[in-house]
Amino acid sequence: MLIVMKAHATEEQVRSVCQKIESLGLRAHSIPGTQRTAIGITGNEMELDAGTFDEMAGVQEVIRVSKPYKLVSRDVKEEDTVINFPGTDASFGGDEVAIIAGPCAIESREQALTTAERVARAGAKFFRGGAYKPRTSPYSFQGLAEDGLKILAEVRDRFGLLIVTEAIDNESLDLVEKYADVIQIGARNMQNFSLLKRAGKARKPVLLKRGMSATLDEFLMAAEYVMSEGNYEVILCERGVRTFADHTRNTLDLSVVPAVHRLSHLPILVDPSHGTGKRNKVTPLSRAAVAVGSDGLIVEVHNDPDRALSDGMQSLYPDQFDLLMSEVRQIAAVLHRELTPVAAVAR
Ligand code: PEP
Ligand code: MN
Repeated sequence: MLIVMKAHATEEQVRSVCQKIESLGLRAHSIPGTQRTAIGITGNEMELDAGTFDEMAGVQEVIRVSKPYKLVSRDVKEEDTVINFPGTDASFGGDEVAIIAGPCAIESREQALTTAERVARAGAKFFRGGAYKPRTSPYSFQGLAEDGLKILAEVRDRFGLLIVTEAIDNESLDLVEKYADVIQIGARNMQNFSLLKRAGKARKPVLLKRGMSATLDEFLMAAEYVMSEGNYEVILCERGVRTFADHTRNTLDLSVVPAVHRLSHLPILVDPSHGTGKRNKVTPLSRAAVAVGSDGLIVEVHNDPDRALSDGMQSLYPDQFDLLMSEVRQIAAVLHRELTPVAAVAR
């Protein structure tokens, strides 16, 4: 159920509706919009009667939300969610096409700093790199854990890049929350519900990747898990799904971008690296992703991809990333969206 408050409802009126909801053992999610505040109700609503709220001061209308996801839905919030980072001009979901770039995994201080210097110079505002890697084989490189997070913190200090890195379980999430600016939940964990709930209690934005066989509803329900715990800063990410195609590692489902924009106010990014698994397809699919309306890209870039400990085949050389940025910048301009202007990039 969703309670839409009148445009001029007072904070006090919003508060009393929330208190009423909580007194019934449910959770109230007050979501301010430009026109009015909406209050989403989660929990067991079986017994709830619209009449309980209809007559309360400041209430405009009570709507039954028929979709399984509520807080994620445009019914609750009509305008796009924009996620800002205080003290910086970086954002997700606004006019800017956000660019996250960096290696698959943090392998060493030198590798991270060398790559970071290049992606910062090319105009990326976010740096990626796994300190905890969910690998298919237990014998593959598993990441540097907290030492990797410390290297990422150094990258932020040196280059002003915001840090995006993956948490693979509740313990790593505690540490990722401490060191990073954005907590990544990987495709393999998209339906790890206890991890999603823990991410929902975190006070940092969550980048949620689509599971490799997840439908759009399942993807949105995973985001709902995070939001239902009170963390409303969720960024979705399409990273390719499993199909019969064998010319790529996954099939990048770009049609999910307008589908998400239609149903949800949350930003959605595209990952052309895992989405194709092939270096030569990363730039073409990045161009397509921006053209289809993606709110940003997450791209693997490595200073020496041939010696990378993970995903070298899909990692761009820094020079290729420069080219990607200049091409994508031109496409963004056609759509009246921004990417860091070239002038601002030169340091
Ligand atoms: C990654 O971003 O390095 C990663 C493991 O991605 P995904 O969860 O999409 O496979
Ligand atoms: Mn990877």
